[in-house]
Amino acid sequence: MDLKKLERILADQPAFRIKQARHFIFNELGNDWSEATTLPPLLRQKLNQEFPLNIESEFHKSKDGQSIKALITLHDGLKIETVLMSHADRESVCVSTQVGCALACTFCATGQMGFKRNLQVDEIVLQVLLWQRRLKKQQKKVTNVIFMGMGEPLLNYDNLLEAIKIMRSEQGFGLGTRRFSISTIGIVDKILKLADDEPEINLALSLHVSKDDIRKMLIPFHENYSLAELRQTMLEYLKKTKRKIMIEYIMIDGINDSIHDARNLAKWLKNMICVVNLIPYNQTGVYKPTPMAQIKEFKKVLTERGVEVTERYKMGEDIAGACGQLAGQNIEKNKKLA
Ligand code: SAH
Repeated sequence: MDLKKLERILADQPAFRIKQARHFIFNELGNDWSEATTLPPLLRQKLNQEFPLNIESEFHKSKDGQSIKALITLHDGLKIETVLMSHADRESVCVSTQVGCALACTFCATGQMGFKRNLQVDEIVLQVLLWQRRLKKQQKKVTNVIFMGMGEPLLNYDNLLEAIKIMRSEQGFGLGTRRFSISTIGIVDKILKLADDEPEINLALSLHVSKDDIRKMLIPFHENYSLAELRQTMLEYLKKTKRKIMIEYIMIDGINDSIHDARNLAKWLKNMICVVNLIPYNQTGVYKPTPMAQIKEFKKVLTERGVEVTERYKMGEDIAGACGQLAGQNIEKNKKLA
């Protein structure tokens, strides 16, 4: 979906052709230019050769049918994941921004794959396009886009914002700015830049721990920032944007889930307008998930201290719901085949 390339291909055509072509891609959701009847047949042929619209993908459905994960093969053979989560009132898609990830979080499947490369703008957009095509058959549309797939969105900042711009435009999907959410490990300079550039986009912080030494253990990238610095950044972000942030907190048995941890977290969140999302840990490596009863206790401590808390339903766990697991599995498979 390199729209600049599309413009180049159509440079010798009347100006309205680009509009027609974009309409075919984003509104008609076509995947074969032969069906673009507004365009002359020769041009359709040329576009099919130079700007093919097919997306190489395989789908994995969860048992409850509420989420589907797609594994997309990119032009260079690398694979990325995107997930569609269907609810009564919305169709949310979880989108990747990088192949692999440089943060190396020890609890995350993507983190264990290492970093391959940033996704291009078109590679970010095509994940949503894939779901739009699928949902069209049910007369539905994507309503929310969440950058919580593989990679660290704020380390691919320019491409991320450009992709959002395309998806939001009237000639794109026409999605409102508040329909987009970015989840970050906490890249402080980029969080402040986002507050200036796009204050309406929702922000989620993958905090997971409120003690520096344990956060460094789970998130090696935390060497770059202290929790004090991160807290200052979030307060400044809130002052600038006047929005509510989401704090993501994966519950890992014996690591970050004690009553003391809950009290410490409540302290760290003081004066922050936020909602804490307690996420059951999806076992991908050495750690174990916190038992449900302990999650309830943890939640109680936060609630008593005036912190708003939600619990994320373990949707799609049976299709390897957590970030990076499917692409990771595939790498394993390929390794075995090699
Ligand atoms: N780098 C960004 C985006 C990656 S998605 C970030 O860190 O926010 C990160 C989110 O994926 C986490 O907040 C968590 O919600 C989820 N996640 C990753 N590994 C997980 C696991 N093993 N179990 C449950 N959730 C996981």
